[in-house]
Amino acid sequence: MTSHDSEFDLIGMGFGPSNLALAVALHERGAGLRTRFLEARPQFAWHPEMMIEGADMQVSFLKDLVSQRNPQSAFSFVAYLHAKGRLGRFINRKTFFPSRVEFNDYLAWVAGQLPVCTYDRKVVGLAPVKRHGRIDAVSVIAEDRQGRQWAETARNLILAPGGQPRWPGALEALRDDPRVIHSRDYLSRALPRLKPGMRVAVIGGGQSGAEIFDDLASRPEAPRIDLVLRATALRPSDDTPFVNEIFDPAGTDRFHARSETERHETLRALAATNYSVADADLIERLYDRLYEQSVTGEDRLGVHPEQRLTGAHTRQNGVVLAFAGPQGPKEIAADLVILATGFERRIDGRLLGDLAPHWTGDLPDRSYRLPMENGFAPGIFVQGFSESTHGLSDTLLSVLALRADELAQSLIGLAQARRHSLAAE
Ligand SMILES: Cc1cc2nc3c(=O)[nH]c(=O)nc-3n(C[C@H](O)[C@H](O)[C@H](O)COP(=O)(O)OP(=O)(O)OC[C@H]3O[C@@H](n4cnc5c(N)ncnc54)[C@H](O)[C@@H]3O)c2cc1C
Repeated sequence: MTSHDSEFDLIGMGFGPSNLALAVALHERGAGLRTRFLEARPQFAWHPEMMIEGADMQVSFLKDLVSQRNPQSAFSFVAYLHAKGRLGRFINRKTFFPSRVEFNDYLAWVAGQLPVCTYDRKVVGLAPVKRHGRIDAVSVIAEDRQGRQWAETARNLILAPGGQPRWPGALEALRDDPRVIHSRDYLSRALPRLKPGMRVAVIGGGQSGAEIFDDLASRPEAPRIDLVLRATALRPSDDTPFVNEIFDPAGTDRFHARSETERHETLRALAATNYSVADADLIERLYDRLYEQSVTGEDRLGVHPEQRLTGAHTRQNGVVLAFAGPQGPKEIAADLVILATGFERRIDGRLLGDLAPHWTGDLPDRSYRLPMENGFAPGIFVQGFSESTHGLSDTLLSVLALRADELAQSLIGLAQARRHSLAAE
């Protein structure tokens, strides 16, 4: 026994699909690492605020947590369907795209079989642990919803907390205004405020904006809805097969091997696979809704392209949003503003806490490890923060199965190296 036997080999921040895939990979490799994942939510939930009725997955179910690595895994989507007695009926549907609700249920089914996560534990602090003249572990402080705190020590960390809601600078002053709500809080905060005849402005012409517009349009409250976007039109996401090859696991190596300028250019050229675009069938549905409205003469749904949000002011009965567009300035008054402005992922002090001063500032390496200063032994790994070096699949589900296994191999290697060096001492 060493004096550090209560330490974890690995602590993971967040237990979304990325760290869940890692938990499965470690389990399937029989890694035997002391591992703990800490998840802020009270139970497993994948984007619970966007579980909009009728929303489908945007990737094939074969891009589940395991199949691309181990098609025989007991944790595949097919194994889940079989366990739930729905495999035959799913096949009859002839689709690669389950509903988002079903995929969440699949992920929760996997999570429920791996007792490696403590829920209701938000990581609120990370700090280096210095021993024998060098940093050889990390202290992780986590907090529950009652504000109680726990500290654990880990030899390696894997950070996969997802993105932070992107809040437009022009609305900075309205961050605490309950009438302005990010899509991250759509179901729990925006919908309960909905009242008959209300005016709702949805900002953002990507998948979430289009889904929210469509969802609100069918609500019995019949709100007036204005969808405002920067692009010239709602555009479809490109998921055609040649383009889709960028999401193949081998695409990560190809992308990583490019120069910085080439990577930047590739991300720009292929942005329409994921950013500011929506599913083509959803766009068709929205168009049909607007066409129907022009037949009935109703004036409830509006789509405003080429608008740049420039500011906002509040009135007693709502928010007035200011935009600049090709026809000049424009104002839209709303009782409720929903920001479908996406998420951002940054490696900074907010993510790294007191580890930030020890980070060299360089991007994660090919194995997703953050370069730290000399004398900093723990491995600090990230999932979902390497789009600029690893490609567009980095924030998505596409490469999870293989990325998780690459990480598992690195972590097992680090644990073995540590054991060998302790044995040699
Ligand atoms: C509505 C929506 C639909 C999507 N649909 C698809 C799709 O169909 N296909 C696709 O490929 N991608 C899709 N995406 C992209 C999405 O990023 C991935 O599907 C996936 O969620 C990434 O997993 P993750 O684990 O990296 O991050 P997340 O799923 O965001 O999980 C991060 C987890 O970390 C937790 N957390 C955050 N901070 C802390 C903390 N300090 N302490 C403890 N826990 C913390 C969060 O509560 C969360 O559970 C979608 C995104 C959204 C928003």
